[in-house]
Amino acid sequence: MLEWIKRRDAFLKCLMSVKGRLQYADRSCPHCEDGEALYRCRDCSSMELLCQTCCLNAHSCKPLDRIEKWTGTFFERSTLQSLGLVIQVGHEDGSVCANPTLQFSNFTVVHTNGIHVLSVSFCGCPRNVQYEPWAQLMLGEWYPATVLQPQTAFTFRVLELFQLLNFEGKVTAYHFYRSLERLTDNTGCVKMPKRYSTFLRAVRQWRHLRALK
Ligand SMILES: [Zn+2]
Ligand SMILES: [Zn+2]
Ligand SMILES: [Zn+2]
Repeated sequence: MLEWIKRRDAFLKCLMSVKGRLQYADRSCPHCEDGEALYRCRDCSSMELLCQTCCLNAHSCKPLDRIEKWTGTFFERSTLQSLGLVIQVGHEDGSVCANPTLQFSNFTVVHTNGIHVLSVSFCGCPRNVQYEPWAQLMLGEWYPATVLQPQTAFTFRVLELFQLLNFEGKVTAYHFYRSLERLTDNTGCVKMPKRYSTFLRAVRQWRHLRALK
């Protein structure tokens, strides 16, 4: 503790500096050295700033990461959807489906890092034709909220995390879901989908299926 007290102001300085551009003052993207470096990811380990194209490319297989955009004076919340990301369900390699069936531009996904609204396209290729949209979601480890034309899903990770916190920490579904809402937006200014009752239903189904396994 004594060593920490000696360095308290330095700790605080580091904490404040990550709110800014840090050492990434160069405006050009370090990957392509062409586009303007404006985007960083709160979930990737690197804090480097990338251009829109490189940020999108870096997240083709990480569609639930949280993105921030540099405005010139501060970082504001942004989304991979606003950058143009469309999630192609049924194509694990991130390739675009030539035979898409259902497509949604406001698909809700609840994950351990918050609540996301995404553009999602379902696959109609011959190899996936036996899988209905709900099954395609399940194979990607997203639990569908409904069977027919699902437009909301809960990741297996968020259902597992809630089950653990509920059993070990006695965290209620309400407090868990409320925490996810605040993780998504702690200001109360952002309108977000209300999926609490849907979450409760998914948790009941999830527990039932896990008991049957
Ligand atoms: Zn770039
Ligand atoms: Zn990321
Ligand atoms: Zn396809």
